Amino acid sequence: MRDGTRVIRAGLPRATQGEPFLPGPTFAGPYHVTGDPSTSEYTYGRYHNPTWTYFEQALSELEGGPALVFASGMAAVTAVLGITLRVGDVLVMPSDGYYTARMLAEGYIASREIEVRLAPTAGNAQGELLEGATLLWLETPNNPGLDVCDLAELVAVAHHHGALVAVDNTTATVLGQQPLQLGVDFSVSSDTKALTGQSDLILGHVATRDPMWRERLHTFRTQQGSVPGPMEVWLAHRSLATLDMRLERQCKSAFAIAQLLTTQPEVHLVRYPGLPQDPAYALASRQMKRYGPVVSFVLKGQAQAERFLGACRLVLQATSFGGVHTTAERRARWGGDAIPEGFIRLSVGCEDTQDLLEDIAQALGTISTEAESHS
Ligand code: PLP
Repeated sequence: MRDGTRVIRAGLPRATQGEPFLPGPTFAGPYHVTGDPSTSEYTYGRYHNPTWTYFEQALSELEGGPALVFASGMAAVTAVLGITLRVGDVLVMPSDGYYTARMLAEGYIASREIEVRLAPTAGNAQGELLEGATLLWLETPNNPGLDVCDLAELVAVAHHHGALVAVDNTTATVLGQQPLQLGVDFSVSSDTKALTGQSDLILGHVATRDPMWRERLHTFRTQQGSVPGPMEVWLAHRSLATLDMRLERQCKSAFAIAQLLTTQPEVHLVRYPGLPQDPAYALASRQMKRYGPVVSFVLKGQAQAERFLGACRLVLQATSFGGVHTTAERRARWGGDAIPEGFIRLSVGCEDTQDLLEDIAQALGTISTEAESHS
């Protein structure tokens, strides 16, 4: 079956007379359990929930290995770091990946006597730091710079050094890139983003092919308590059905917008892995099935970027990415990333492509008009 069919059928229970296609959320703390608890599939809501089971089944089918859902993307990141790293270990992280994950590594993880080494995503630079490493953490395409690294090559080097490999696959989603198929040990995702795409929940997951790691992740989630609410998980499962359609529109529009941006004099730099002139294009074309919904570009400075954002009528100003509504932000407003003040992360949604192109062109037009009136 192809992606568009797989996401619609993923994780659904067997067709049963009189039952819904996707059963509604199960709200439960304790379940009825009399006597020996091992005789009951469900005992207590922190351990398991039927709504999680359906969604995890869906993710497992798409990822190609057992998946566990977490309360957020960061809870999923924390779980992988938590089960793999001990005092004296070495973690190799991207210096230019999602900044909260980097803050977690440089703060909490480093304070636990774990050495944290940082290198950029581009050029597989992290591969140079693997001597004695325990875990190689990758993010490709990285947020917000959209650089790409070679998963198969880095997995080979890391495994040669005895290190495990985890990939944050949030930007691409499992339909854009399949890390487990490339030999990665943990495929991690913030499902807050494109995987669910409605901007109405916070969620994450981890998939791994190794049943031992799956069991350890489950124990970590149960003991640490980073469990998702059943309503969020049910919404996520419902939203997953449209992932193929959403990405198709998003990637088509993202490419058209990236192309438009390359022709605009106000735009200093455009990054989109699907643009043939992008430094990541050749590798992304080999490694990815779709180039994703995010485009990054640089305007002259803070004032120009803010004027551009203020002039957009369709593009909403918000953080996060991957949703059906097109959003953008001046990323440097948060601090923490080594990016220019005029750097804009644009998340392309599912609106009509032409409407988006016209909105972005008119907003850029207001900048150039202002520049002329000042000159
Ligand atoms: N990974 C990436 C690449 C992200 O962009 C984010 C959030 O922006 C996360 C992980 C964390 O996800 P969450 O916000 O669901 O905890």
